[in-house]
Amino acid sequence: MRQPMTFQQYLAYRKGWPVDCFFEPEELLFSETALAKGLDNLPTTEEWERLKVFLKSLLKPVRILWGAPLLVNSCFRDPEVNELDGGTDTSDHLFQIGGAADLRPLSGTDAAARDLFHRVAENALDAKREPSFDQLILYPERVHVGWRPTGNRKELRRAIKVRKPDGSFEWSWPLVDWEEWKRT
Ligand SMILES: [Zn+2]
Repeated sequence: MRQPMTFQQYLAYRKGWPVDCFFEPEELLFSETALAKGLDNLPTTEEWERLKVFLKSLLKPVRILWGAPLLVNSCFRDPEVNELDGGTDTSDHLFQIGGAADLRPLSGTDAAARDLFHRVAENALDAKREPSFDQLILYPERVHVGWRPTGNRKELRRAIKVRKPDGSFEWSWPLVDWEEWKRT
């Protein structure tokens, strides 16, 4: 049985958050969905530890690479929030192994999101530097970065909205070939 922290416990744990990592815990725990539904979206102690590892291993280096503030659209999701957001039950947003964050450059433009996607991919794939990533997905205006402590696949995808026969939309995530991407 999953045991999330109480808010009081969270306040105590919060004091041990690293100070020089650009992101506050509230940014990583915030969820529009949780806010709308009145859910706490608080981690267990294990998920909290993984959040800190993710912060140091992925978020901080990506922020340094980018060199400017990044808005966190969605990072940690408890299972209920993840289900409401349409995430799979192996989503890295659950922080079961590594972690994931949806990052948006301040300008909020498609071009800036493409640039962020490009820089993180180039750094890991061409320069072979950290941070590596498991999945990097380009959405309009934001980039999803999934990361694991080991076995990162460095998979690139692009999120495309597809119209269904009934007129509604759904996302599709085709793979992106890096060499081909660089030529366009
Ligand atoms: Zn995501």
